[in-house]
Amino acid sequence: MFEVIVVSTGEILISDLATGHEAEKIAIRYSNILGKKCQPRVMKADNWKSREVSRLLGGAYTSVPFDRNDWFREHKVYKEHFAHVSKKELGKISFTANENDGIRDIKTHMSPGRYLTTFYSDVLCRQNIEGIANDFASRYEPLHLNFATTPDEIERIYMNGPRSCMAGSHPQITSSVHPTRVYGAGDLAVAYLSYVNENGKECISARSVCWPARKIYGRVYGNSSKLIKALEDKEFKRNDNDFEGARLLRIKENDKFIMPYLECGLSVKDYDDEYFIISRVGIYTCICVNGFAYIAVECPHCNRTFNPETSMISVIIDATNEEIRYCNSCTPMITYICNYDGLNHRGNPILMGNNQYWSPQAYSQFGFQCEGGSGKWHLREKVIIGDGIAWSREFFRKNGKRCIHCDRAMTRGEICRCNEVEEQIPFDLNDVTT
Ligand SMILES: [Zn+2]
Ligand SMILES: [Zn+2]
Repeated sequence: MFEVIVVSTGEILISDLATGHEAEKIAIRYSNILGKKCQPRVMKADNWKSREVSRLLGGAYTSVPFDRNDWFREHKVYKEHFAHVSKKELGKISFTANENDGIRDIKTHMSPGRYLTTFYSDVLCRQNIEGIANDFASRYEPLHLNFATTPDEIERIYMNGPRSCMAGSHPQITSSVHPTRVYGAGDLAVAYLSYVNENGKECISARSVCWPARKIYGRVYGNSSKLIKALEDKEFKRNDNDFEGARLLRIKENDKFIMPYLECGLSVKDYDDEYFIISRVGIYTCICVNGFAYIAVECPHCNRTFNPETSMISVIIDATNEEIRYCNSCTPMITYICNYDGLNHRGNPILMGNNQYWSPQAYSQFGFQCEGGSGKWHLREKVIIGDGIAWSREFFRKNGKRCIHCDRAMTRGEICRCNEVEEQIPFDLNDVTT
């Protein structure tokens, strides 16, 4: 390659000229225009590097997606290769293989997996390279728009496609079959973009639930801009609210219905034995990630609706003894926990002698009042004194004794009728004060 310089200053006027003949002609023209002697010369070897830098910075080259990573920028080949996204060969990296190619402006094209394995294996492991290569491919490989319509196809897209709460075998999903199979009822489809990766495997880079007959699609997961473009090219429009009426499969498991976190609505209603349809006023709410729909219940305190299984607590109303569900946030504010049954109660708890709170129900069945004045206790704490007076064990320990002959409980000063002889021994010898 040739360039033209001003002889007196060394300033480069123009570079990258293919032939010496062309450079000669330009030098003569500039000499006349500038009134200074200009000369052609063979480009210095390093000039190709500044040419590559200016192409990268100037946007003539598309930077690779990992351009900002330290492992890439700090590697020794970074400043030699000027690697960028190939425009000539889709899905490949274009780079300058050596000095000679640099001067002659010749590029080498390689798939990202092969490129990184060849030059970056000292800083990247195999899994890293695979991940980066797949990401690169999802951006630059030619992508194909497809529509999955059957339960099996739809499940495959969710199992292998972009991450979300419904993707793969998510640990929160507890249903026996993948909940997204429900979409395969005939009305809806899952639009997705796929490409073939370096190992020849089909990879899914984006997906969206859509309704082909109405040409609408919902939220897009993964490489959204590409899928949106592909769908809009086919005259689909984004519309999350118009899926009303679309059928979903009605699959029962035990007493619940299998349902994904619905990406195109909030609830469904019964259609027939086989199908649900999406409805704004459906009784089955479909916002759970566990794989099931639920019938929402209103909290009578805050009047909002909740999933009764996960977000509500059953509370016993003391006055009527009925059970009512309140939401998880209202419950602690308006109820107490009965220390006898461990359940939430709404009403007035009873303070027991040991500072526990009991519900009136528990107290009426299993509690008693200590007639010595030590408060209310569990029945098993009861000690009967003399002619049927109920004391708590606690009160008896301080104020009572047992007859050593007949074991009868009595007040401390009493003499048992069973024995006229003065042989009374107090219940607890340490407590004797006389
Ligand atoms: Zn509430
Ligand atoms: Zn006695």
